Amino acid sequence: MKKVNIIVIGPPGAGKGTQSERISGELGIPHISTGDMLRQHSDLETEHGMARDYMDRGDLVPDKIVYSILDHRLKKRDTENGFVLDGFPRDISQARHLESMEKIDAVISLEVDKNNVIRRLTGRRICDSCGKTFHLDYKPPVKEGVCDKCGSDLVQREDDKKDVIEQRLKKYRDKTLPLKEFYRKKGVLRKVDGNKDIEAVWNDIKEMIEEFLR
Ligand SMILES: [Zn+2]
Repeated sequence: MKKVNIIVIGPPGAGKGTQSERISGELGIPHISTGDMLRQHSDLETEHGMARDYMDRGDLVPDKIVYSILDHRLKKRDTENGFVLDGFPRDISQARHLESMEKIDAVISLEVDKNNVIRRLTGRRICDSCGKTFHLDYKPPVKEGVCDKCGSDLVQREDDKKDVIEQRLKKYRDKTLPLKEFYRKKGVLRKVDGNKDIEAVWNDIKEMIEEFLR
């Protein structure tokens, strides 16, 4: 199989994680989420701890910390057939860093309207203990406020609260518009309507991937 390196970009709440997971399953390549990597409970590692402090404040994690964690991940053997990268790069300087390490074949941009983003994000809940994610509208837990998987409490992440979201969206727009332009010029940008439901978005992506692999 030829190596395929895919990036999924989109505003917070666009469904990057869900769609990346599907691509990963379809192509048998790992889903690498920088958000998850940075948020992991690994208090032994200073870099992870520092990263979480930034995220809880709704700030972007400094590049030096992200690069260190990401570079280490991309060197693992399971990326030999490629990867799906979600949450990175966020701006052109990160894109250049990535370019110096890996060739990118496709950048899937999930395009979602602002009001949809806000509605989706304020409904997100995450398990305090195992990290499993839920959504009050789209993926509610069987029992309100309790994780289906491990029975722990569900919480709203600091960076899913409304004022933090608006701050994140503004930062997203300022940094990502030039990023999309960067990839458009390279001929690898693929836009997908992310306002549709999960299945419809997945069908569009799947079609695109099939066409792309042909
Ligand atoms: Zn849980």
